[in-house]
Amino acid sequence: MTGFPLPAPAQRALGMLEAAGFEAYLVGGCVRDGLRGLPPHDWDICTAARPGQVRDALGAAFTVLDTGLRHGTVTAVRGHVHLEVTTFRADGAYSDGRHPDGVRFVGRVEDDLARRDFTVNAMAWSPARGLVDPFGGRRDLEDGVLRCVGDADARFMEDALRIARALRFAAQAGFRIEENTAAAMRRQRGLLGRIARERLCEELSRTLCGRYVGRVLRGFPDVLAAFCPELAPMFGFEQHNGHHLYDVWEHTVRVVEAVPPVLAMRLAALLHDCGKPASFTMDARGVGHFYGHPKISAVLAHKLLTGLRFDHATRAAVVRLVEYHDRPLGPDPARLRRRLHRLGEMPVRQLLMLKKADCVGQGTHREHIAELWETQALLEQVLAERHCFTLRQLAVNGHDLKALGLRGPQVGETLHALLRHVLESPGDNQKEHLLALARQMRDGNEDNRP
Ligand code: ATP
Ligand code: MG
Repeated sequence: MTGFPLPAPAQRALGMLEAAGFEAYLVGGCVRDGLRGLPPHDWDICTAARPGQVRDALGAAFTVLDTGLRHGTVTAVRGHVHLEVTTFRADGAYSDGRHPDGVRFVGRVEDDLARRDFTVNAMAWSPARGLVDPFGGRRDLEDGVLRCVGDADARFMEDALRIARALRFAAQAGFRIEENTAAAMRRQRGLLGRIARERLCEELSRTLCGRYVGRVLRGFPDVLAAFCPELAPMFGFEQHNGHHLYDVWEHTVRVVEAVPPVLAMRLAALLHDCGKPASFTMDARGVGHFYGHPKISAVLAHKLLTGLRFDHATRAAVVRLVEYHDRPLGPDPARLRRRLHRLGEMPVRQLLMLKKADCVGQGTHREHIAELWETQALLEQVLAERHCFTLRQLAVNGHDLKALGLRGPQVGETLHALLRHVLESPGDNQKEHLLALARQMRDGNEDNRP
């Protein structure tokens, strides 16, 4: 296979299974990615051998773990390489729309490939036997087409997670989703409600970080809304405002495309304006306004992220970016230091990126973008000059204040007061100067005592 850097342990396992008399192939994602000349990120092997036979055949060279015996899967480990080795199988009926009721081992690789979701994922390859491609996966891969194996509606009814996987593969690899498959995704999208939120979270995350995410957001908003209902009000929502060239959803898609492929940033871009429809008002001149929309967006974002079981850190980061996205962050060093104090360096950097993308997505206001670049330069300067924006950077600490006779809560209060002072006047962050200020504060307090 062209451009297929097969790691030595995978080659060895295939050889050992064949030597023991069992057909064995690489299968699924690693074949798909290998044919595209991309490094696969996991190695799946399918074989005619039953799990016990796999253990016997590979035991001499691999540590063999019983990962999913019930489904015929064991993991063979050698060094850093983990190989998932699965016996050829066909799935039984799917009564819950996600898991087969039972699996049946089968003798032929073609029967195993028939249970797989998309033609590009339904190919097997081995050095000894070459490519097995009963559904035209290679052709679809060359054409950049994602197509279900068999009847698309039936395949999505068996397992609706495949609908979210289709979005993800389209966003990652730029596949065009074949018409019948796309139509079935829309028809069956209601079944996504049966799928574990954690799985949808995973697929949505990978979709958002995909290079071709814009196409998916534009082409399948209805499918996304089946598991992200908070997005729906944005679709086609006109802004009636000269600052915006696009409706809320098209603007959102542009912002998602314009931020780096980092999950928290992509989520923040996706959700930053989701509160706009709910906050819309039109003034007497027919101009649309969205007063207070960041707050509403933040509440909706929190709801969506909690519903999809995003981890706490991601949720907190995204909600904060959404909440702050519309607050001024102009080229004003004191404001930058206050933001750095409140949010931290990384979130301020992300906020700037989001604000730039927001401007780009509005399609107007070049001068505003220029101002954000100026702010960026100033941020680099504030950080390079080590302006103080945390207690840790303050030129005095609690011990220094205790030495002045301050006690208990006075110590913390005075430290915070000094920090507030240097956020405005960074040049004053010098020990003698701050001690003098602290003495004044102490004496002022004493004077005020009854
Ligand atoms: P990646 O590893 O890049 O996420 P992948 O295609 O390898 O992509 P996996 O989840 O690792 O995806 O699954 C490996 C293979 O198993 C797939 O290529 C596909 O053939 C099959 N497969 C996985 N999930 C399903 C599913 N829900 N329905 C049918 N086949 C599936
Ligand atoms: Mg894989």
